[in-house]
Amino acid sequence: QNETLQLELARLARTDSLTDLANRRHFTELVEKELSRSQRYGGELSLLMVDIDYFKRFNDQHGHLAGDQVIQMVARILQQQSRGIDMVARYGGEEFVLVLPETLPHEAKIMAERVSRAIRTTPLILSSGEELRVTVSVGIHAGIPAQGASWEPLVSAADAAMYIAKRSGRDRVVVAAAPKDTEVALSAI
Ligand code: GH3
Ligand code: MG
Ligand code: MG
Repeated sequence: QNETLQLELARLARTDSLTDLANRRHFTELVEKELSRSQRYGGELSLLMVDIDYFKRFNDQHGHLAGDQVIQMVARILQQQSRGIDMVARYGGEEFVLVLPETLPHEAKIMAERVSRAIRTTPLILSSGEELRVTVSVGIHAGIPAQGASWEPLVSAADAAMYIAKRSGRDRVVVAAAPKDTEVALSAI
């Protein structure tokens, strides 16, 4: 019984309570593992940063509970659209991060477009009967991680691409330009 309790406490420590996704702490553990695996075997790794568009408006116009439901809906769709080996985490308030192992840049883009479409076409119906339409902006960093590289620059690159998606109108997917070190890594194989 004590052991069951310990396991449950460990699960709670790595889970986001609103969405049941991995929390940020768990994300950092998992992404480090995934990154070193890619570096060892030279595999592709894609990272998606997903941010809900104009999220503040949902809170302001429909209340914080409706905002929470929007976050839960996006989390559910991200989870449904992912493969078993993908990792989905809640990175911050209305931001999510996905790690897709063994995924080429163009495959990551297809996946991101599919997720965006699913979110765009799934209305959230509130108890008042009102329908909320939700969209997301997605930034992608994809490629073969360079030896010795850490995960933080990958997140920063995906984040920068996500901000370009925001600035160019939201509800879209932007792939970060491949950094020079990726080419070096490729030519070294
Ligand atoms: P943008 O399109 O540029 O992303 O605009 P935005 O309104 O989505 O972004 P902004 O960063 O201005 O607002 C995010 C808001 O999310 C601010 C914060 O109050 C709210 N928020 C953060 N965590 C939660 C949560 O768990 N539940 C709810 N309901 N709101 C949250
Ligand atoms: Mg937002
Ligand atoms: Mg945000």
